[in-house]
Order: sequence, then C-alpha cells, then structure tokens
Amino acid sequence: MKLKECDLSGNNIRAIHPPDRTIRSGPALARAGLCDDADLADEVANIYAVAVTPHLAALIDTSDPDDPIARQFVPDRRELGTTPDERLDPIGDDAHAPVPGIVHRYPDRVLLLPSLICPVYCRFCFRREKVGPKGGGADSGVLSPEQLHIALAYIEDHPAIREVILSGGDPLGLSDRRLAHILDRIEAIDHVDTIRIHSRVPVAAPERITPALIAILSRATPVWLSIHCNHAREIAPETEVALAALSRAGVPLISQTVLLRGINDNVDVM
Ligand code: SF4
Repeated sequence: MKLKECDLSGNNIRAIHPPDRTIRSGPALARAGLCDDADLADEVANIYAVAVTPHLAALIDTSDPDDPIARQFVPDRRELGTTPDERLDPIGDDAHAPVPGIVHRYPDRVLLLPSLICPVYCRFCFRREKVGPKGGGADSGVLSPEQLHIALAYIEDHPAIREVILSGGDPLGLSDRRLAHILDRIEAIDHVDTIRIHSRVPVAAPERITPALIAILSRATPVWLSIHCNHAREIAPETEVALAALSRAGVPLISQTVLLRGINDNVDVM
C-alpha cells in the first residue's frame, strides 16, 4: 500500500513515492495505483497516447475514484467506444490546413503546430487522434525542418496574419534551441504583432520552466502563455513558483480552462 502525505483536513493529497519517469503504459499505471486493469489501459493506449508525468502522478489521490487529476489523464474504458456521429476531426482542422503544421481558420490569426507531442495526454483532447508520438502520420510527431520551413513561409506570405498561436502538441516540449529558432523566425515577420503559446507544461512538468526557457519567452514581441489548467488541484507549489518566475520576467499569462463534467462543472471548483 502506498504511503501518503495528508493535508490538514486529513485528505490524502500526495503519494510519497511517485514514479520517477512519465507513465505511458497500463502496467506502469497499475504500479502507481492509478488503474486496476492494466490490459484495458494498454488497449486504450494503443489507440490514444497515454502519459502522466511524475509531477502530476504525485498530485493524484489514488484513494479517490473521482480524483479530478486522475480523471483527466488515466485511460477510461469509454474511450474504446465510438458513436456513428463521432468524427475523426471533430473541430474541422483538416479543412483549414493548407500545409502541414498550419491551421488557418480566421484571416488574422493562425495556428502553428510544430509538435504533436504532449507531456501528458488529456483523455478529453479534441485532437486525440492526432497527438502523440505517431501523430499526424509523422513518426516522430514533430514537424521536419522542411515542413517547419514551409509552415513559416506560409505565415510570411499572408500579411493579414497578425497573431501566431503555437499549440499542438505542447510547444514547450520542444528543445530550447528549436523553440528559440521558431520564435525568432516568427518575431522577424513584420505583420505578426502577437505570439501565443498554449501549454500544459507549467501544470504537468513545472521543472521545464527554467531560467533559459523564460529568457527565450521574454522578447520584444509579446509571447502570451496560455496555461491549460482545469482544476485548482493542478496548481502545485512548483507550478506557482514557475508561474511567478514567468510573470516576473514579463511573460503575460492567461488560462485556458475546459469545462469538464464531474471535474470542474460546479461553481465552487471554478
Ligand atoms: S495537452 Fe492539449 S493537445 Fe495535448 S492532449 Fe492535452 S488537450 Fe490535447
């Protein structure tokens, strides 16, 4: 049985021996006490990528079957079912993807998806068929240098675009060198005045928010960082420290919060 720390109300809040690497399989989920049926979890993981970082795993109360963090990241049997009205591309990205890595739905802004890899995989993700190491048909889930060049050239060639939104996948999962290269290229485009990054990293892997990364994000063209966070329990002390450091460096922070049944669909949690 796993030992836990307790908060003052007596609730178990943190496993004392969290896994030391990201959980990606049914057996690893079972070993961490996060699922009872490793085979079922693997069945789901073979279709939709699974990852739970050590940091988030340590925040899960394994004695609570409705733990709001576990429910977002631990595979569920219901994922194996599909209904006739479900679509492979539920938000219609494909119809607005002129080149790989670009979704251009509105004239003045564009999505740039340099990577389809995430530090964690949310079970509710509306790009779940695409994210992951095999996402988008690319073996690595990351745009090749040639594809990236073409995607950036597309932005350069469309002067109506004033905002570039890096999403994915998680852009902060890229190496510092690759991220800096992309931001440098975007910043050099005259008609782009705003860059936005959507990321789970501050919540899922706050140790990635290093001084070097913060220096890359602090630049003349504002780089807005949209933190994907759906429940207050996701905001651990390490995340608070990371967000404070970003804020001190002048990185504008906003939040993207998905309304999720049974997780945050009540006023108190919100
Ligand atoms: S981090 Fe974003 S892109 Fe990745 S699985 Fe979660 S919702 Fe989807």
